[in-house]
Amino acid sequence: MIESCESMWEKCLTIIKENVQEKSYNTWFKPIKAIKYEQPILTIQVPNKFFYDYIEEHYLNILKRSIYQVLGPKGQLEYKILVDNLNQNKSRTDFSSKDIKNPFVIPGLKKVAITSNLNPKYTFSNYIEGDCNRLGRSAGVSVSNKPGKTAFNPLIIFGGVGLGKTHLAHAIGNEIKKREPDHNVVYLTTETFTTQIVNAIKNGSIDDLINFYKILDTLIIDDIQFLSGREKTQDILFNIFNQLQQTDKQIILTCDRPPKDLEGIKDRLISRFNWGLVTDVKAPDLETRLAIMQEKLGSDVDKIPKNVMEYICFNIKNNIRELEGVIISLLAQANLNDKVIDLELAKSVIQKFVTQETKGISVQNIAKLVADHLQVPIEKLSTNTRKRPVVVARQLSMYLAKHYTSSSLKSIGANFGGKDHSTVLYSINTIKNLIDTDTEFKGLVSELEKKVEFSLMV
Ligand code: ADP
Ligand code: MG
Repeated sequence: MIESCESMWEKCLTIIKENVQEKSYNTWFKPIKAIKYEQPILTIQVPNKFFYDYIEEHYLNILKRSIYQVLGPKGQLEYKILVDNLNQNKSRTDFSSKDIKNPFVIPGLKKVAITSNLNPKYTFSNYIEGDCNRLGRSAGVSVSNKPGKTAFNPLIIFGGVGLGKTHLAHAIGNEIKKREPDHNVVYLTTETFTTQIVNAIKNGSIDDLINFYKILDTLIIDDIQFLSGREKTQDILFNIFNQLQQTDKQIILTCDRPPKDLEGIKDRLISRFNWGLVTDVKAPDLETRLAIMQEKLGSDVDKIPKNVMEYICFNIKNNIRELEGVIISLLAQANLNDKVIDLELAKSVIQKFVTQETKGISVQNIAKLVADHLQVPIEKLSTNTRKRPVVVARQLSMYLAKHYTSSSLKSIGANFGGKDHSTVLYSINTIKNLIDTDTEFKGLVSELEKKVEFSLMV
């Protein structure tokens, strides 16, 4: 009679159950499924690589014994590992799997296939070098040559919006992969990282997730300023960070400001950020901006007269993404409306672009503007003081921040000494009420609004 793989594994489990504690049995053995038996190999499926490591480390003897008893002296066990496909739009069915043959010798652990989330478009070859990014770029190149083995660990790249941090981070990841295809690199935005953690906590798989991160060779997290106020995520990152660093694995982070200026982030995490190299990308000079646009446009660059190109690059200084946007919309305008590309068209496109861009001010800049206007020391806004002028300045800043930035209530709160989202909401509603009931106050608000809008224009 041919026995099914399930019933064989069932027999093994009976033996295992007698020998391990119930809790451990439920944790480590219950989730395992038998999927195949081809003499003399029984294949079982485990949820992830960590499971496999753990079982091998802690239960090898009892596994050996049970296999011996059920399958005979030639019996072997093979693991099939399911690995979460950590795509942003991941689904439970979207698994990639990899077999690990394991005839009772603990093998040199095979690498597990992991989705990198790297954008192949962003490479070093199309990342133009300039004074603005020379240090960051060359540190990036060193890191890609020897990930985890240089002094640049972690590598922190900071700088303003649209200056090439994300591009550089992907370029490093892509270069590592090119040199060493087996190297496990994962790129994530802070939003994705946080969402994964929140979900894993919800469905009880947080330990698995943490352990997944700990087996990576290179972890890239983009825009860590969004960790602000997210304490649980920060704790988990701290834990992963320590483990990766101790095992010489590479960590690359990007941020919109130097780590020391981060608010709402625990000091111990910030001090870790400063262990490696903190380097910035600045706004590129005119020559570099022209070179970047040339690279981006390829042969389309010929469609734009030289003086127009220079005019645009001269006027848009602080954000490459915006610069790209203007040029793309210029090309589109000319195409759609059958217009010649000249200075006049360029001017009108720039104007449209600049007025459309209403989300270009930071919460901090708004707070500064309000504090200056009301003559309140800005640092007071982050305290818990109940002094009237400070409270008003804080509430006004929150109100304006909600209107003029795309920050969430939570991250607005984080800019004011870690106020929670309900405090921010309450502040915003208080200001709305005052605007409705107090004409003088309404005047003050519109004056401030003008100031914010003015600062967006320049
Ligand atoms: P950030 O992450 O700093 O906001 P990104 O990396 O998204 O900025 O860059 C914005 C755009 O500008 C991207 O299209 C990127 O390719 C481009 N860019 C920025 N710096 C450079 C550079 N030095 N060379 C080529 N392209 C660049
Ligand atoms: Mg970015």
